[in-house]
Amino acid sequence: MNGTSAAVSLPTGFAGVDPPETWPRPLTFPRPERLEAAVENLHGVGPALARRLARIGIEQVGDLFWQRPRRYEEPVPGKRISDLFGEDEAVIEVEVRSVSSRRRGRLKILTARVADSSGEIKATWFNQPWLEERLKPGTKIRLRGRANRFGFAVSSYDLEGEAETADFAPVYPASEDLSQKKLRELRAQALELVRDTGEPLPAALRAREGLPLKADALAALHRPRSLAEAETGRVRLAFEELLVLQVALARTAAERERSSAEPLPRAGELIERYRASLPFTLTSDQERAMAEIDADLLRSTPMLRLLHGEVGSGKTVVALYALLRAVEAGRQSTLMAPTETLAEQHFLTIDELCTPLGVRVSLLTSSLGARERNTVRQLIASGDAPLVVGTHALIQQEVDFRDLAVAVVDEQHRFGVGQRTALVEGRNPHVLHLTATPIPRTLALTVFGDLDTSELALPPADRKPVVTGWVTEDRSSEAYQRLRRHLDEGRQAYVVCPLIEESETKVARAAEAEAERLRSAELKGYRVGCLHGRLRPAERRSVMAAFKARELDVLVATTVIEVGVDVPNATIMIVQEADRFGLAQLHQLRGRVGRGAEQSYCLLVSRAREELTESAAERLEAMVETTDGFVLAERDLEIRGEGQLLGARQSGLSDLRFVRLRLDGELIERARDAARRMDDEGLLADEADRLLGEAEHLGES
Ligand code: ADP
Ligand code: MG
Repeated sequence: MNGTSAAVSLPTGFAGVDPPETWPRPLTFPRPERLEAAVENLHGVGPALARRLARIGIEQVGDLFWQRPRRYEEPVPGKRISDLFGEDEAVIEVEVRSVSSRRRGRLKILTARVADSSGEIKATWFNQPWLEERLKPGTKIRLRGRANRFGFAVSSYDLEGEAETADFAPVYPASEDLSQKKLRELRAQALELVRDTGEPLPAALRAREGLPLKADALAALHRPRSLAEAETGRVRLAFEELLVLQVALARTAAERERSSAEPLPRAGELIERYRASLPFTLTSDQERAMAEIDADLLRSTPMLRLLHGEVGSGKTVVALYALLRAVEAGRQSTLMAPTETLAEQHFLTIDELCTPLGVRVSLLTSSLGARERNTVRQLIASGDAPLVVGTHALIQQEVDFRDLAVAVVDEQHRFGVGQRTALVEGRNPHVLHLTATPIPRTLALTVFGDLDTSELALPPADRKPVVTGWVTEDRSSEAYQRLRRHLDEGRQAYVVCPLIEESETKVARAAEAEAERLRSAELKGYRVGCLHGRLRPAERRSVMAAFKARELDVLVATTVIEVGVDVPNATIMIVQEADRFGLAQLHQLRGRVGRGAEQSYCLLVSRAREELTESAAERLEAMVETTDGFVLAERDLEIRGEGQLLGARQSGLSDLRFVRLRLDGELIERARDAARRMDDEGLLADEADRLLGEAEHLGES
């Protein structure tokens, strides 16, 4: 690890003596740069393990600190073998007598005869063949597990010490290829550097709030002697996160107060025609959201409103309403989407609705040729493009609106304070954010603070909840049978390909291959199209258009269909290897069906139950149990920990790793109070800057 020292300038105490170039560093001086070293610097971490760690967000040594244990092992009594009774968990300290192993199907079973002074028992491990050679007769070992009629089923073991089998050993969100043992081992190494985290909170504040030092809090979190100790540590860390967030929020709120926007006149003739042209009656939630937007647009402070509603709840109609309000006033509006596919999809939908109204819609994406792009930019600059749909990045970086009045930001699950300010800078449009991420109330208050929200709680009346089933691979033929029945009735279907975490190109190739396979197997005789991120935009558009026009029966797709795709005649979806997807992602995918009046189905196909991690099984169960996005969000919180609620794509803002939103209401208040007192002093300003900066940066990527 390298040790470039932070420049420290100290006054010299002796007049007339030249100070040394640098002062020697006191031994206890924190060296945060050691935490920025790559994880490969830890013992036992090679490139392969580093890659697996990177996949769960651990790249630097310090990253090991910022992941909260899911839970802690229960305290269990140490027992003698002869006292083991029933199936209660226990710890035994024993000596190995002999070892043997065998296979049963894909399962590798390792058995050791172990003994203490009271007796002997057969201990079993599953799928840990490498252990065999370490269990030489005579080896002393500590086992945690349960006695059953076959012997002692081992859940964790220690050959030395008690790290694994101890009471309150932390249980981390593991992945299939990363064991608890490894994660604990790496944490133990990282904890030796815990003092290098330094202490950002001033002593007076810590004293007032009764909070321990950051380093102590981290040590308690990752190696507690009791649950109370772990909780004290967590609260200290959560407090700091909330404090930084509140300082950042206070700052953007102040900025917004200072800015002003031009009010829009009341809705008129164009809006009337728009309403009349819709082929359905608006729901009361949609009406209310529109009224709230109307009220905002009358004010001379820029609108900053979040419209949230489940996938399929009808946000687009409301968004277009806001856009047309600007057009009607002779001004400009824009809708920004996070991806090209989504921008194109929005464009198709909006263009269809606007053409009969005589409103011209322009599309601006990086897939346009340079000439075309230039033309669009000129139209925008001259004010001749009243309504522009494009990707966030392009619109923020390349475009100079002549008179932008309303901006709709379709963020899906990425949002942040910084992004909001970035758009507003220099011009002050009214801004409406759309999100399908179900946001628990506490989170909305915490993360958005000053943001107004409108909610589409009830879906359009003719919707039936999607029926969801979960089958394992060996029964996938039944799923396809069901799918074919829908096709034979004139409906359409999606098949979602497994998630591969490699290059987009590999994902695309796998999807093509799967489509080809299905064409000659399960879906023989049907018209099968394929949609993935490597198609050229024109190809992608023509596949989508063909599916919409019912020239294709089935769309085999990667997660590019996750958002925005809207074909009400598609009534069934099969998700292959569904256990690999996150809960939020599955929920988004499922939202592609159930968009019409027909009963729709979502069939999740997974690997065999024994092969699934605990959390994968929990995710699939949750999907079957409910279609309520709020319930799923809560479950996701429980399964993954709060901070990751909003998905890995989240900006810095939502990285609340230690906050437990459902429990920390009071802590949020305390942090808010503390932030108010601190703002004057400018404390934590750097952290707040970083947070805002990070969010901005992510918003542009
Ligand atoms: P979201 O963007 O919230 O996921 P959309 O705006 O794409 O949802 O709407 C989903 C589908 O519901 C679209 O086909 C849309 O035309 C339709 N829709 C919207 N509002 C209504 C309504 N009030 N009644 C019936 N269908 C509606
Ligand atoms: Mg939508």
